[in-house]
Amino acid sequence: MLKVDNVSVSIANIKILSNISLNVKKFTSIIGRNGAGKTTLIKSIMKILDIDYGNVEFNKIKISNFNTYAMTSFGIGYMPEDRRLIPNLSVKENILLPIWSKRKKNENNDLESILNFIPEIKSFLYSDAYQLSGGQQKLVALARAMIVGKKLLLLDEPFEGVAPALAERLVELIIGLNKLKLITLITESDETYSKLINADIIKLERGKIVS
Ligand code: ATP
Repeated sequence: MLKVDNVSVSIANIKILSNISLNVKKFTSIIGRNGAGKTTLIKSIMKILDIDYGNVEFNKIKISNFNTYAMTSFGIGYMPEDRRLIPNLSVKENILLPIWSKRKKNENNDLESILNFIPEIKSFLYSDAYQLSGGQQKLVALARAMIVGKKLLLLDEPFEGVAPALAERLVELIIGLNKLKLITLITESDETYSKLINADIIKLERGKIVS
């Protein structure tokens, strides 16, 4: 279980998140308008942003005591809203990067199971990331998160800015993640897709949980 306990976060001395507490045991969606603090919350869980006070625990380990690099060791994968692929690396290299950083062996087994889950990636596996469309990049960013995220996936606005056909495909894939028993926390600006994937809904407004 992911447990966020009384977390507050400031950026440039401005409080962005205030006393956020939530437990994520299964499929959960954080819903909030632009600027509500969704990305800030995900980045704080990943320790990309420091928290002012409060704790984040995953499976009873206080992960807020570790750095971002360590999150892969806890089986946590992250898909940033803006994808953050490395343009001059191939799709395969982008997907494998988190695994290389863990110096893990058997990378091909992991890659194969991801490619079976998202088979459309096979056709552009050896293209450089900069050659891909925005939608293809989303799929690759999801694959990269999955390769280390064996227990918890943090997907920041996976449906944002994608064509309806791809959004439908992402819904299908995310429902598939649920079947793999992965704990998944996603963010969305409204409930459109979160309802389709049957997620628990947590609403965030101006840095506070409202329901
Ligand atoms: P969006 O979908 O627009 O990204 P969000 O809910 O993810 O919305 P955040 O990106 O977490 O919102 O931003 C929350 C607030 O923090 C906003 O008011 C934003 O302007 C502010 N903020 C975020 N990052 C910075 C930064 N680097 N410097 C200053 N303010 C920031």
